[in-house]
Amino acid sequence: MRTGSPEHIMTVYAAPLNKNRSSEGALAVVADVTEMRRLQQLRSEFVSNVTHELKTPLTSIRGSIELLKSADRDEETRRYFYDVLDIETERLTHLIDDLLVLSQIENAKEDPSMRPCNVKEALEHCVERAKSLGQENHIRMHIDADSELFVACTPTRLQQLFGNLIDNAVKYNVKDGSVFITAQRQRQTAVVRVKDTGIGIAKEHFPRLFERFYRVDTSRSREIGGTGLGLSIVKHGAALHYAEVELKSALGEGTCITLRFPKE
Ligand code: ADP
Repeated sequence: MRTGSPEHIMTVYAAPLNKNRSSEGALAVVADVTEMRRLQQLRSEFVSNVTHELKTPLTSIRGSIELLKSADRDEETRRYFYDVLDIETERLTHLIDDLLVLSQIENAKEDPSMRPCNVKEALEHCVERAKSLGQENHIRMHIDADSELFVACTPTRLQQLFGNLIDNAVKYNVKDGSVFITAQRQRQTAVVRVKDTGIGIAKEHFPRLFERFYRVDTSRSREIGGTGLGLSIVKHGAALHYAEVELKSALGEGTCITLRFPKE
């Protein structure tokens, strides 16, 4: 039974109270299964998204292998197809790594290895790793972080959170753009902000942006090796550490994502 607004899905089981159905009484059990149905729907969408994401590079890999098998390919063409194989297998590895991280974060409860982690060190590590991404577009990265700022986390998790934000700020930037990263203590919280001068995000995408596989521009994301899972990792990772995530963005102006961690 579907009823109400917003719509709820109910299952209703009813039976007469006695066997020969002579009395007027009946017993009905009504259960609200809206949430369960929503989760089933999400699971099936997730499976179909993963399948699609895996199939795209695999199709390309199979095509390249077929073409490489034929003997009459010159050296240049062969090299081209080897490059395709290289790019597509890297894409698969990246996708599988992100899926594993997401599943670990989602299944993690309290992590026993959580300890005070230095925010500045984690940020510097991520900036170092993101440098090669920004080389072609000459992206400049600036860090202004309190070196005594700590949050309760594991270093790898912290790097996953910051790394995804910093990588995005570089990937979705413009030529000669900048990324400003700040980390400060504000009252009871540690505030980490990653701000870019990039392409920005239109408001209509905000509600779905942190969903798995949601991309504003699918072809641009794929072209630069995106999996569509980065912000999802940020959202779940932040929740695991009781951190709030705030998004501000304007199309053509840039994006600013803020993480607010409770003081460790
Ligand atoms: P992806 O692997 O595609 O980068 P994410 O989950 O990290 O996946 O991000 C989802 C989408 O949000 C991206 O495809 C991109 O369209 C948009 N996005 C994320 N960060 C930024 C940013 N800093 N500037 C502009 N767009 C962004």
